[in-house]
Amino acid sequence: MTTRLAPVVRDNLLASTRAWLEKPPLEPFIGGSFRAARSDDRIAVIDPGTGLTLTEYTAASAQDVNDAVAAARTAFDDGRWSELDPEQRESELRLLADLLEGTTETVAQLEALDTGKTLAEARLDVDEAVAVLRYYAGWATKAEGAVYPAPRSFLATGTREPLGVCAAITPWNYPLPILMYKLAPALAFGNTFVAKPSEQTVLSTAYFAQLCAQTGIPDGVVNVVPGAGATGAALTAAEGVDKIAFTGSTRTGQSVMRAAATTTTRVSLELGGKSPQIVFADADMDAAIEGVMAGIWTNAGQVCVAGSRLLVDRRVHDEFVTELLRRTADMTSLGHGLAPGTTLGPLISAKQRDHVVTLVEKAAAEGANVQTACSLPAEDGFFVAPTLVTGVRPGQTVEQEEVFGPVLSVLPFNDEAEAIRLANGTAYGLASSVWSKDVSRVHRVARGLRAGTVWANTYGIFHPTLPFGGVKASGFGRELGSAAVDHYTELKTTVIGL
Ligand code: ADP
Repeated sequence: MTTRLAPVVRDNLLASTRAWLEKPPLEPFIGGSFRAARSDDRIAVIDPGTGLTLTEYTAASAQDVNDAVAAARTAFDDGRWSELDPEQRESELRLLADLLEGTTETVAQLEALDTGKTLAEARLDVDEAVAVLRYYAGWATKAEGAVYPAPRSFLATGTREPLGVCAAITPWNYPLPILMYKLAPALAFGNTFVAKPSEQTVLSTAYFAQLCAQTGIPDGVVNVVPGAGATGAALTAAEGVDKIAFTGSTRTGQSVMRAAATTTTRVSLELGGKSPQIVFADADMDAAIEGVMAGIWTNAGQVCVAGSRLLVDRRVHDEFVTELLRRTADMTSLGHGLAPGTTLGPLISAKQRDHVVTLVEKAAAEGANVQTACSLPAEDGFFVAPTLVTGVRPGQTVEQEEVFGPVLSVLPFNDEAEAIRLANGTAYGLASSVWSKDVSRVHRVARGLRAGTVWANTYGIFHPTLPFGGVKASGFGRELGSAAVDHYTELKTTVIGL
């Protein structure tokens, strides 16, 4: 099937991106080549900015998944990657990072087209993926072991060994960076890999698989099985997987964990969030408003760490909300992610848009006050305007459930203790923030927040060195930074009788 592009898309693509889209390789990538999927399950690739179907692909079946796992298993067991000198793995990963960096514009265009995000945001995604690859390339030569103080008649060492076959199941909001959080450390330490991208965003992962084939990374080390939940479930049920790293919804994460129990496979889960941004009256208001905006409007709110609950000191509540809405209206140009000038793109799908709209309508029906920053564009596409919901009561659905859209719930608080109680008052615990010029207060509040990350007087800072993950219903396990060493290596104790 040839790819159909709307004029707004065609006119804004590089010739190289258009050429790739003529016949994108969306088959399973197994053992170093793309092979026709053995199923009848066709999935549409939809442009969220127009609602049009770009092309279709066939989902990987359980048989394809098993083949991919077998290819990864063989590639691991014969040592073609794990037994290379660490410097060699480092240099291949650096080459991969260079190749990705060299194709930034094409990959960013594919990502903007596939996810709906703006081209500027998509470029940042590629930059982040490159940075994460380079960071873990360096780790290949730095995962040291230990010598233990066992009784003197023994020499006891701890060595870091790869786990084996690592599987990743990734979501549609940040397809490339989230893939890299898992793939880069896995490969650096000598593991082999099977990736299942979200069925809604398969383009960048397919492109990336082609880049892998251009390096000296041996065939079978990186495998890709595109498909939906059934493909993901087949991967979690497959024999021969040593670790599953999942990012997605809490409900699906729970299914993944249940499935992993039956094969005793280790899991790490990065799940949903309902992250609070706490603004005290003594904050730098200008910076806080900018931070709150970045925290909720980035990627149209489809961010696991979206700062989707604004908790604001009652004394500055009205003034803060008025200015927030004014600035949001000023900055918002809602449109196709590839159209020049767009600052906010559509949501991923009609289903997601309807979900968001339903939650907002429910909040309004329950008495909350709903304000939008702009009207919807005339064009088709899954658009939702930036929305502020004030007068929210603690415990209301919009304040408790992850919306995954550009919707900010606002609640006033009276004092520090109430702010912390409200902040911790959901099932989630992924990220959080506190805005205040009082350094003692910042530390007190940070200590009181139950979340994997606390940002203070800033928001949404990700970096390869910073461990990231959640508590409570937001999952467990830390990606990025040195924390990934524990996730992608096994510590082997060797005791030698002297
Ligand atoms: P979302 O609702 O944000 O799409 P999901 O948690 O459903 O989030 O999806 C995250 C990833 O999990 C996607 O790659 C999706 O295809 C995959 N997935 C969905 N259902 C299952 C399942 N039962 N087992 C494994 N993976 C699944």
